[in-house]
Amino acid sequence: MVPRHSFHLWLSILGRLQTRCRLHQLGICTDCSCCICAINDEDIAHLYWQCPYSSIAKNMVQDWLKIRLPDIFTWQWCVQLKRRSKLQWRVVLACVAGLMYLIWQARNDARVNQVLPTPAALVQQLQKTMCCRIRGKIHVPLLRKDQVWLKDRNLL
Ligand SMILES: [Zn+2]
Repeated sequence: MVPRHSFHLWLSILGRLQTRCRLHQLGICTDCSCCICAINDEDIAHLYWQCPYSSIAKNMVQDWLKIRLPDIFTWQWCVQLKRRSKLQWRVVLACVAGLMYLIWQARNDARVNQVLPTPAALVQQLQKTMCCRIRGKIHVPLLRKDQVWLKDRNLL
């Protein structure tokens, strides 16, 4: 997992990201609306899993990885994921953490610069990051099933 992605994932699990709902609770912000869609309140569940923008990106990642991603990130889902090989589990988790990080970056760009990458551009960036990361990290022979799994997802 990319260190900044895992740190971001950790903050989101702890509910520590400065979403507009959180800022509102702290009395810092009066507008709770999502920086991306401006329709719903911006809390962690909405931003990553329910926002129309994030849903499109999530569906693209599901198609790419050929795996059903959760409606919301939970530890139970992580445990279920462990039924896969260790490598596949780590790659899927790294992709989810990377997706969440890039959505947060896109959200910040939308808030500050009024610029939002398309979901396709966001997923392409994620794929590029994951490819570089995996190719640079693998130094031991892979199990045949993991080689096939990675090649099938253009990660090897
Ligand atoms: Zn939204």
